[in-house]
Amino acid sequence: MPVPETATCPLCGSPGTPVFKQRDLYCGCEGEFEQSRCAACDLFFLSSRVPETEIHRYYPATYTPWRPVRYSSLIYRLAGALAIPQKRRRRIQRFIAGGRILDVGCGTGAFLAALDDAAWRKFGMDVTLPVDIPCAGEFHTGYFDREPVPMEAVHAITMWHVFEHLYHPLQALRNAAAILRPEGYLFISIPNPHSFDARLFGRFWCGWDVPRHIATYSRAAISSMLERAGFRLHAVVPESGGVDWCFDIGFLLKAFGHPSRLHESLVLRVLLSPLAWLSNRFGRSGSTLYVARRAA
Ligand SMILES: [Zn+2]
Repeated sequence: MPVPETATCPLCGSPGTPVFKQRDLYCGCEGEFEQSRCAACDLFFLSSRVPETEIHRYYPATYTPWRPVRYSSLIYRLAGALAIPQKRRRRIQRFIAGGRILDVGCGTGAFLAALDDAAWRKFGMDVTLPVDIPCAGEFHTGYFDREPVPMEAVHAITMWHVFEHLYHPLQALRNAAAILRPEGYLFISIPNPHSFDARLFGRFWCGWDVPRHIATYSRAAISSMLERAGFRLHAVVPESGGVDWCFDIGFLLKAFGHPSRLHESLVLRVLLSPLAWLSNRFGRSGSTLYVARRAA
């Protein structure tokens, strides 16, 4: 196992206060890691973490939380309208209808594929890319939080549950500001450490996803970080779904030695969706989409 390194608050550099220790509940990789909180920034971060050069070992083939699930054809068609890429398309189109868009951490390209080809010019980036990306566009491999991306300015950048994995979050925001047009939109979707399910499940909450989630940002923390990089927070969209609660239960079962694929159960998602609806309604969603605009 790699020797863990010590880290401080990514916003202010404070050592923070230890909150709990946890192991890798999702993939079962070795090690135990300490989660700390910086009270001044209201930001949680791994104060003992896997060094950046070794973290790839913690993304084994079993780490596939958002891979498409194969349902029967009828259910699949019914579920299609509720699928995550379609929901994400509707969310961003409340703010911007088209233009040049970069999806950071594009994975299989499923989100970009859900966007209308006529309205959007699509760019994707990830540390590795599959051979058969199901959409037209330009795709790059690389680390968005390390190097500025050499590309023409874009109207929108999306990061769907990517930001919490980054070792250099402030640099990622600065790189985003550098390639966004003035008043361009940045969409960052991240787990919410003050959600109902975070409180309920404690250190077993799926949003911690130790040791892959390097930091977990409150609204105050992400707002400060965005401002520091030249953005202003424009809107906050709660986006919990039944699937998040399925993951929570799955993590809890795994912690007690019962491997589970509950997050793939469509029936359970539907049954748990009222809880997600209530979390969203009361501003305590397990996942939150922050919409920011680059300063003009
Ligand atoms: Zn801090």
